[in-house]
Amino acid sequence: MALINGIETHASAAETFLQDEERVDWHDKALWNLRHKRDLAAGTVPEWEQLKQLGSEIKLHTLSNLSRYLQEFEQNCQANGITVHWAKDGAEHNQIVHSLLQKHDVKLLVKSKSMLTEECHLNPYLEDRGIEVIDTDLGERIIQLRKEPPSHIVVPAIHLKKEEVGELFHEHLGSEKGASCPTYLTKQARYHLREKFLQADAALTGVNMAIASEGAVTVCTNEGNADMGANLPNLQIHSMGLDKLVPNMDAVGVLSRMLARNATGQPITSYTTTYKGPKPGGEMHVVMVDNGRTALFKDELIAEAYKCIRCGGCLNTCPVYRKSSGFSYNALIPGPIGIAVSAHKDETHSLAWACTLCGSCTKVCPTKVPLDSIIAKWRRVHAEQNNLPYGKGSYMPYVGKLMGNEFLLNTGGKVARTALKILPGSLMKPFSGAWGKSHELPEVSTTDSFETWFNKNRENK
Ligand code: SF4
Repeated sequence: MALINGIETHASAAETFLQDEERVDWHDKALWNLRHKRDLAAGTVPEWEQLKQLGSEIKLHTLSNLSRYLQEFEQNCQANGITVHWAKDGAEHNQIVHSLLQKHDVKLLVKSKSMLTEECHLNPYLEDRGIEVIDTDLGERIIQLRKEPPSHIVVPAIHLKKEEVGELFHEHLGSEKGASCPTYLTKQARYHLREKFLQADAALTGVNMAIASEGAVTVCTNEGNADMGANLPNLQIHSMGLDKLVPNMDAVGVLSRMLARNATGQPITSYTTTYKGPKPGGEMHVVMVDNGRTALFKDELIAEAYKCIRCGGCLNTCPVYRKSSGFSYNALIPGPIGIAVSAHKDETHSLAWACTLCGSCTKVCPTKVPLDSIIAKWRRVHAEQNNLPYGKGSYMPYVGKLMGNEFLLNTGGKVARTALKILPGSLMKPFSGAWGKSHELPEVSTTDSFETWFNKNRENK
């Protein structure tokens, strides 16, 4: 196991996941299936590319005028009877939420749809203070019972088999032993969660879009759990990162046409609800969190990562994510977008290399986040700060010299081809690290190098 500062590198954690070949195969297929559905759904919208352009411009415009829209949002929220709180980091966010819950003597909080609260570590914070927190999205409840973080931002339990969920529910919810039928298990979860919804003293949800012109927030779910939570107890809290702001309802229209299509291939999420004020006799609060976002806005390219609408499409298409799972990333948000927003915090300096730079993520992104360029930039930043991953710092300067010299490159190619012909692949594998251990080397061409072939054929034209 390769550890840096006591933390596992991406390659090392990926190696652990790769031990279970069967799981790797269906994980890969399940995610590729989502990507396939996304392609079909996008294909039903003739103006898809124009929508992407609009989505990108809306998000960029909002980020460029953030302080104006934040003020507009707060003023309109206040006019609607909503209280807006400001948190500079996760600690402040948690204190604000806790003080609201304390004020209302909350013992049980139902929570839904919030990667931000994972980012702020809200659950353990509240549990340490005697408040029970129940995650109510089916996938999130599953991983909460397993005491695991999500492995995907849209389908958080995608790494688990239905049999494993069956065992878990038998242990915690008392479902039949050995049952693994998804319909049966979903029903068991529903009975269990209904009880919790009815007992809850407060509800907290994430936010998909906060609408400045309306002073309202839009929440999208497929299970209706956010709506159930927000409509039952009197205290309703919505936690959001500053980047979730959009100017108006037209923007919601554009982005919500792409969100579900790009995530799961659905035309729209089953529940898309806009909350514009508290229930009669109730309270509605929005907690706005920075937590390092505005610091990254200073870099024009990296700031574009915050155009993200968290559809998960880039994870589903990423060959590295599909083969190595969300747990191999030393970051809460995995996959290409996770690298884009977390590489600066990665003490192993390995995240920015968990990428083939194939660009598939950038191609599928509905708001045109230039993910591959951002990841390449993080590599450059690490190199400039002398933070290259173990080994790269020592051999990459020589590789650079080799690649920059035609004679050396051609000679090196000849030597490598000869060596690969003489030595069996297994002897070469140790030199290609964790990657090489799980890949078959291609057969070596018995004919010329590509360069010789190219020159010969070019001359023939
Ligand atoms: S970066 Fe783009 S594709 Fe990835 S989650 Fe965000 S919006 Fe979706």
